[in-house]
Amino acid sequence: MAGRPSLRVVIVGGGTSGWMAAAALARLLPGRCSLHLIESEAIGVIGVGEATLPHIRGFVERLGIREADFMAWTRGTFKLGIEFRDWGKIGDSYVHPFGTFGRGKGDVDFHHYWTRLRRAGVAVPPLEHFSYACMLARGNRFDLPATDPDKLASTYGYAYQFDALLFAPYLRRIAEGLGARRTEGKVVEVLRDGASGNITAVRLEDGQAIQGDLFIDCSGFRSLLLGEALAEPFEDWNHWLPADRAVAMPCRTETAVTPYTSAIAMPAGWRWRIPLQHRTGNGYVYASAFTTDEDAARALTGAVEGAPLADPRPLRFRAGRRRRSWAHNCVAIGLASGFLEPLESTSIYLVQQAITALIELFPDSAKCAIERDEFNRLIDMEYDRIRDFLILHYHATTRTDTDFWNYVRTMTVPDSLAEKIELFRRAGRVVKYREGVFLDASWIAVYIGQGIEPEGYDPRADLPDATMLTRSMQALHGEIAATVAQVPEHLHYIDRYCAMAAAA
Ligand SMILES: Cc1cc2nc3c(=O)[nH]c(=O)nc-3n(C[C@H](O)[C@H](O)[C@H](O)COP(=O)(O)OP(=O)(O)OC[C@H]3O[C@@H](n4cnc5c(N)ncnc54)[C@H](O)[C@@H]3O)c2cc1C
Repeated sequence: MAGRPSLRVVIVGGGTSGWMAAAALARLLPGRCSLHLIESEAIGVIGVGEATLPHIRGFVERLGIREADFMAWTRGTFKLGIEFRDWGKIGDSYVHPFGTFGRGKGDVDFHHYWTRLRRAGVAVPPLEHFSYACMLARGNRFDLPATDPDKLASTYGYAYQFDALLFAPYLRRIAEGLGARRTEGKVVEVLRDGASGNITAVRLEDGQAIQGDLFIDCSGFRSLLLGEALAEPFEDWNHWLPADRAVAMPCRTETAVTPYTSAIAMPAGWRWRIPLQHRTGNGYVYASAFTTDEDAARALTGAVEGAPLADPRPLRFRAGRRRRSWAHNCVAIGLASGFLEPLESTSIYLVQQAITALIELFPDSAKCAIERDEFNRLIDMEYDRIRDFLILHYHATTRTDTDFWNYVRTMTVPDSLAEKIELFRRAGRVVKYREGVFLDASWIAVYIGQGIEPEGYDPRADLPDATMLTRSMQALHGEIAATVAQVPEHLHYIDRYCAMAAAA
C-alpha cells in the first residue's frame, strides 16, 4: 500500500455498523486511512440485532478474532438456521437451514428426487429430514462442521446469536487497539463544499469541527449525513413489507437454548425468539396498519416463555433503502442506508457486505464516482434480492385468519419474485444467482416449507431406478438420524467451547 494517499475517514455513529466499519477498516486497510469515529452516548444505539447469517464468520475471521473468545464475550450461541412456525398455515413448522438438502453433491438438486418420489405416491419423509443442519437444529445439538467434504457433517454452515449490546463494544476494543480514534459528542451540523457538494466536516455540539475526506454515515435510522444533509431520497417498500414497528422484550430462558432463531407468525406480523447464553431475546414485528401498539405489547408479553427482564420497548422503522447508499463522498452503512425487517437476520449481513465492498473499492481521494457507482450497484442488488426473499415468506401463506394475512397473501409482488415463484411451482427450479446471500437451499426450504410444492422436476431425476432411489433415500434418512444422535447438546457444546477462551 506504500505510496498511496491516506484518507481521513470520519465515521458518524458507534452502533454495530459504526464499530464494524471501524474495526474492519483499521485491520484491513492499514496505512490507507486514518479513522475517527464520533458517537453520542446520550442518543445511544438501537440495541437490537442479535441474530446473524453464516457470512459473519468470515468477518470475525478476517479481523483475526478467536471464535471462542468472541462467543464468550458476547454471550453468544450458535445458529444453524431459522425455524418458521405458523407461516404457511397455523400449525406448520419448518426450518430454513444454513446447509444443503441431501449430500449437497451431484448435478441435480436433492429436492428433485424427493419431488419425483412424492409425485409417484411414495411415502417419503418431509424434506427437512434430509438436511443434516435441520436435524441437528431439531435435535438441539451442535458441533463444528466437518472439513472432509465426503462427510454428511460437512453439509452445513452456522452463524451466531449474540447480545447486541456487547458486540459493538467488543469491536470497539479492536478498532481502538488498531489506532481508531473515538470522540464522544453529538453532531449538530454537516458542512459541505459549495462547489462539489462534498461533505468537508461535521460540527459537534461543543463547536469543534471534525474534517475528513470520506464520511461513513452509521447514524442509524436518522441517516444524518446521507438522508438529512445530502437529502438522498428513500425508496419505500412498505406496500410489500407492511411491518413498520416492533416491540422488544428480553426474558429468562426457561426452555431450550436452541441452536436456531425462531420466527413465529402472529396476527399482524411475527415474533422472534433468539436464545443467548444468559437470556432469550424476543420481539414482535408488526404492521401498525393492522394492530395497535398496546395489542402488540400485550401479545408479546403473553407469548414469551420466561420472566421478563425489561419492559416492552417500542421501535419504529420503514422498509426500504436510500436510492443510493453512497452519494458524493458519503457512504451510508447500516440503518442509515436502509432497512429490511429482521425476518431473515439480514441487516448485519448488509452492513458486512457494504464494508467489504467499500474496502474492495476504497478510493484514493474524495473524487470517487466510479467506485461509488459500483458500490451502489452491488448494494442495490443485495437489497433487491433480500427484499424478494422476505416478501415470499408473507405472500406464500394460505392463512385467512386476520386482515394482515389476507393482505400479504393477496398483494401484488415484484415481477422479479412472481417469476421466481412460477419457475419453482412449475418445475422445481430455483433462479440461480452467482453471488448474493440466499442460494438454492434457502429458497427451496421456504418454498416447500410454505407449501409451494413443485408440479414438475428436473427430468434427470428420472434416471435412477425407482426402487434404488427409494432405498438410497431411506439409507440417507437413517444415516442423518444416526449421525445427529452422536452430536453434543448445544448448550454443553457452548460451555465447553467458551471454557477454551477462559483457559487461553
Ligand atoms: C426490531 C429490529 C430487530 C432487528 N433484529 C436484527 C437481527 O436479528 N439481525 C440483524 O442482523 N439485524 C437486526 N436488526 C438491525 C440491527 O439492529 C442493525 O442493523 C444494527 O444494530 C446496526 O445499527 P446501526 O449501527 O446502523 O444503528 P444504531 O445502533 O442506531 O447506531 C447509530 C449510532 O449513531 C449515533 N448517532 C446518531 N445520531 C448522532 C448524532 N447526531 N451525533 C453523534 N452520533 C449520533 C448513535 O449514538 C449510535 O451510536 C434489527 C432491527 C430492528 C429495528
